[in-house]
Amino acid sequence: MAELPSSAECVIVGGGVVGCSLAYHLARAGMRPLLLERGDFGAGSTARAAGGVRQQFTTEVNVRVGMLSRQLLEQFEDEVGSTADLRQIGYLFVASDAEQMAQFERNVVMQHAAGLDDVRVVSASEVSELVPDLNVADLIGGTFCPTDGLAGPNEVTSGYVSAARRLGAHVVEDVAVETIESDPRGACAVVAAGSRISTRMVVNCAGPHAGVVGAMAGIDVPVKPFRRHVFITESFSLARDPPFTVDMRTSFYFHPEGEGLMLGMSDPAEPSSFDTNVDWTFLEHLVEHATERLPALERAAIKTGWAGLYEVSPDNQAIVGESQLPGFWLCCGFSGHGFMQAPAVGLLLAQQITGVGAQIDLSPFSPERFARGETTPETAVI
Ligand SMILES: Cc1cc2nc3c(=O)[nH]c(=O)nc-3n(C[C@H](O)[C@H](O)[C@H](O)COP(=O)(O)OP(=O)(O)OC[C@H]3O[C@@H](n4cnc5c(N)ncnc54)[C@H](O)[C@@H]3O)c2cc1C
Repeated sequence: MAELPSSAECVIVGGGVVGCSLAYHLARAGMRPLLLERGDFGAGSTARAAGGVRQQFTTEVNVRVGMLSRQLLEQFEDEVGSTADLRQIGYLFVASDAEQMAQFERNVVMQHAAGLDDVRVVSASEVSELVPDLNVADLIGGTFCPTDGLAGPNEVTSGYVSAARRLGAHVVEDVAVETIESDPRGACAVVAAGSRISTRMVVNCAGPHAGVVGAMAGIDVPVKPFRRHVFITESFSLARDPPFTVDMRTSFYFHPEGEGLMLGMSDPAEPSSFDTNVDWTFLEHLVEHATERLPALERAAIKTGWAGLYEVSPDNQAIVGESQLPGFWLCCGFSGHGFMQAPAVGLLLAQQITGVGAQIDLSPFSPERFARGETTPETAVI
């Protein structure tokens, strides 16, 4: 069993991409965090992610965070020392009703004002040029951002964890945090693998388990797990390589994956649970919508599929900051955007914790916003 220290400046609970990014950015800022992961690094939701990285969101803070993540992924290899496997193939959102299209147009105005110059509104015929195989008969148009795309969840997570270790972070696998203790001043220790580690700062990076870890500290963290599926086709090609394409009406999406395509869709009727078994009957439902939008898929065969958990907050926005228990911090609730937001949020939270001040205002992610009733829901969620 790994030897644990009796005290730490900061204990990060959870070694998915978010906890690993935070460990790296804290270590880079001169701290010596202790990162505790109950399984293998990056083997939770991070391992199930579709790899999408985008800047197109409906709230300004998410656009800014997306732009910062993109910058960090572009410089990842130089900075972190290994590849992020970034492929900027673009993200294309398509709309088939006037209300959705009007929302897209408003989004692009806001995104331009936030500094995202690359994004543009596209007509149905431009959609057809971008993805010639798409059925555009009922489409009004869409939005396209060529600097969005894909990156490797495994590459980014392992890059951060190796670099964090090199910079002096103590990163440990196979150790589950069981208890979080507090005294009148706030959080004061964690108990893991029979060891008590005293600390004045605990950060909850437990992804879909953030509510469970919050309860250990007596804090209600409003993050619920929801199952999401993705499926991979056998070798299969379209007339040209498509961008990451999302049909907003059904939430069906696809993008190139190896020799084939990755297909995904959400099921709004599915209740919250920790179930990660594949429901193969859902594939039939997905295929129905998928072949309607991309008829060429009728020629495709499914090679494999998997399910994982989104970690959903009440307004589909991340929850980042100190909780009402002093010293107990939250970095969770990414609502299906945790892979793409991890580079930026790890940096921003490290800036906040080390007193430099986050370069993007994190107040829209504040844990207190729910009690204050000050939420701005993100609606570009797939
Ligand atoms: C099918 C699917 C597709 C997705 N596609 C995308 C996408 O394209 N782009 C995107 O940005 N996001 C995507 N996501 C969402 C993304 O995977 C998550 O938002 C992200 O991985 C969250 O990272 P995390 O580090 O917070 O959580 P996780 O990766 O789940 O890490 C949390 C870690 O905490 C550990 N843990 C829990 N409890 C304890 C404890 N008591 N002690 C110690 N460790 C503990 C867990 O073992 C786990 O490793 C997708 C998710 C799914 C399921």
